[in-house]
Amino acid sequence: IIGGEVMKTYAIVCKQDQESITLSEKLKEQLNTFLTYNEKEPDIVISVGGDGTMLYSVHKYIDAIDRVAFIGIHTGTLGFLTDYQRDEYLQLVLDIQNGQHRIYERHLLEVSCLEGTYFALNEVRIENNRRSQVMDVYINDEYFETFRGNGLCVSTPVGSTAYNKSLGGAVINTCTGLMQLSEIAGIHHNAYRSLGSSLILDQSHTIRFQSQSYQGAILGVDHLVIDLKDKDCICVKMSSKKARFLQYRNVSFTQRLKRAYLNS
Ligand code: NAD
Repeated sequence: IIGGEVMKTYAIVCKQDQESITLSEKLKEQLNTFLTYNEKEPDIVISVGGDGTMLYSVHKYIDAIDRVAFIGIHTGTLGFLTDYQRDEYLQLVLDIQNGQHRIYERHLLEVSCLEGTYFALNEVRIENNRRSQVMDVYINDEYFETFRGNGLCVSTPVGSTAYNKSLGGAVINTCTGLMQLSEIAGIHHNAYRSLGSSLILDQSHTIRFQSQSYQGAILGVDHLVIDLKDKDCICVKMSSKKARFLQYRNVSFTQRLKRAYLNS
């Protein structure tokens, strides 16, 4: 989407280390000359920190997700969800002032369990490190498989380069509306069989995870960790909610991948 919106207000979500705090102060000094700081109703949310700070930012503004646009500046090594490095903060200020932005939308996952409904930018994980977790997987209410192992992970295209990648899942172009189910240390032998490979589904699918017992298991939603109830029932689908990211630089998905994983 080419953005025609005029950005008037902003907020900063900052990692609580000295470098990020100092950088946030410098940014504020510059931005306050042409934008108004409004933590409650910002047009732009600037994440200062790492990929984890961007995840936190999206969760913080989830109730305003339709009207807020996110952009990130990285204070560590270059992150995947952040377009600017720490020494480029004046360029970020100039780019915001210029206003020639694009907005790109990224699909979120929606997960419901007994504790409530949550949204994920990266992934939803059901993990059990205390004992092997047994769960039945249903796709659109149709029984698919019984999984045994440490857990299962459902990732968005954005999250495909995060935990999902460590699990051997595929990297998926971030503009697609797909979700990917990957196993976390699945047990496979003559008696126990599950798909083993990652499974890619689309917006028409809902995945349901049912178990005799979720004792000791957690539900991971990006950086959040939620204790599951013993007799929980977990449903995951692509949400109609999307996170909107500001883009001033034309970085292709291929470039982003090369920058993060291939160039030394
Ligand atoms: P964090 O900020 O320390 O993040 C862990 C690592 O994941 C960092 O290197 C971060 O840059 C990277 N990362 C996060 N989102 C990414 C993305 N979309 N694409 C590429 N890299 C990404 O930890 P946190 O604040 O708890 O963040 C939670 C996220 O960390 C989870 O959503 C999960 O995807 C990721 N994570 C990954 C592993 C793993 O790969 N084994 C383990 C735990 C958590």
